[in-house]
Amino acid sequence: MQALVMTVLNLCCLCSPVLAQWHTQKASIMGTNVSVEVWSEEASTAQQAIEAVIAELKRIDRQMSPYRPESLLSRVNAGAYERAVPVSSEFLQVLRKALAISHLSQGAFDVTFASAGNLYDYHKKIRPQPEQLTTAVADIDYQAIKLDDAQAQVRFTRPGTRIDLGGIAKGYAVDRAIEILRQRGIRHAAVTAGGDTRLLGDKRGQPWWIGIRHPRRDAGWVVSLPLEQTAVSTSGDYERYFIEEGQRYHHILKPDTGQSVQSMMSVTVLAEQSMEADALSTTVFVLGVEQGLALINRLEGIDAVLIDSQGKVHYSQGLQVPNGHLFDEKEKL
Ligand code: ADP
Ligand code: MG
Repeated sequence: MQALVMTVLNLCCLCSPVLAQWHTQKASIMGTNVSVEVWSEEASTAQQAIEAVIAELKRIDRQMSPYRPESLLSRVNAGAYERAVPVSSEFLQVLRKALAISHLSQGAFDVTFASAGNLYDYHKKIRPQPEQLTTAVADIDYQAIKLDDAQAQVRFTRPGTRIDLGGIAKGYAVDRAIEILRQRGIRHAAVTAGGDTRLLGDKRGQPWWIGIRHPRRDAGWVVSLPLEQTAVSTSGDYERYFIEEGQRYHHILKPDTGQSVQSMMSVTVLAEQSMEADALSTTVFVLGVEQGLALINRLEGIDAVLIDSQGKVHYSQGLQVPNGHLFDEKEKL
């Protein structure tokens, strides 16, 4: 017993200098939980890098938040039908990516879902009446957004157009965070904002283990993936929702009806960059298993894990074990 205790104590002593080089900070930004985990030999380098990341996430939130009346997004929504509204180059960049994914998914991903999305309040259990939805859905059309890249301006061609970047802005923010860490010489880090995580390097000689949450339990993972140097985003119907008369009303909406998608519980997408993983997880959630997997399998370097409404787990081609076997006959020896 004594020997065991001594060994444990020795191990702790051996471990502590190494553990001290991981620095973690949690915060609440962009309406969600943020976590920044950084490895650095210098505590002050890590701390300054983390502070720079937190400041950057707050800056992006001030620009892209739909809840702040003074945000650039709110100004675009208020004025872009009457006249072209000048925007920042990063706002254009995010909108351009959103429109590309709308195009790719034939409108399953559509930031103009907001004209219907604004009628829901999941906290207060408020949802629109069918006739309100009919009017709102008529205004959902990403083609009503016109970008003027040369002048850095945005214009809407419909008076009812409203945009919300909730399906892509956190991914963009996480990409910016990783870029800041990289520029400061950090080589191992993990940044998470809500369901969006991006990993810089590995976990010092080991992979990071990223769990996919059980969609109906408060704790526990359905699968855990060993990952490094990648982005991973999950969209789930358990993030923002309420249940009424046996129906789940949640925050991922079908652009053609303005109603919550009922065919999926969660979608996790792996991609090189977070903005892409974020937008695609929302997209595949809307597309469902068949069309969603077909899209992912068509895209180079992107994979996904889908959990359908029955709780069945589906993997894209890149994550499948050939023939369901880990080894062929020769390798086993
Ligand atoms: P979160 O990380 O906030 O849970 P997700 O990546 O799962 O976000 O995307 C859900 C968010 O995307 C919603 O809260 C909403 O802001 C936005 N959204 C919902 N439906 C659509 C849609 N069809 N197209 C684009 N964005 C959507
Ligand atoms: Mg998403």
